Amino acid sequence: MTRMAARKRIALVAHDAMKPAMVAWAKRNRDVLSAHELVGTGTTGGFVAEGAALEVRRLKSGPLGGDQQLGAMIADGQLDILIFFTDPLTAMPHDVDVKALTRIATLEQVVMACNAATADFVIASSLFEHPYSPEAEEAANAR
Ligand code: PGA
Repeated sequence: MTRMAARKRIALVAHDAMKPAMVAWAKRNRDVLSAHELVGTGTTGGFVAEGAALEVRRLKSGPLGGDQQLGAMIADGQLDILIFFTDPLTAMPHDVDVKALTRIATLEQVVMACNAATADFVIASSLFEHPYSPEAEEAANAR
C-alpha cells in the first residue's frame, strides 16, 4: 500500500534546457521544500542545492544512471513525489531511461509533475503537508 508520511521524499530532475526553471521553482518554494527530504539527479541536485540553498542528496547524473537510480528507489517505495521538468523539444540519448522512470512512477502512484505549473499545483495541494495514501483517501470518501 502506498503510504506517504507528512514529510515527503521528493526527487528533483530537470533536463538541461529546464534547469533554470527548476532552480527558479525551487527558490520560490524554498520554505516549503526545506521541510522535506530532497534527492536529485547529479547536475540538477547541484544546481538546486547551490541556487536555492537547499539540502539535496545527489545521485548520479541522469544520463549516467541517475534516472535509473530514481526508478530503483521508486520500486523500493523510497520516493513519494517526482518533480521532473522534462524538455519536450529535444531528443535525449537516455530517452529509454526517462520513459522507464515515468512509467514506474505512474505504476507506483508517485505524485509526478513534469512542468512548473503542475509542480505549483502539487505543492499548493491541501494533501501536500499530510500523510497520504490513495487507498485511505478512497476509504475516507466511501464513508
Ligand atoms: P542531470 O540529469 O540532473 O544529472 O542533468 C537529468 C537528466 O535526466 O537529464
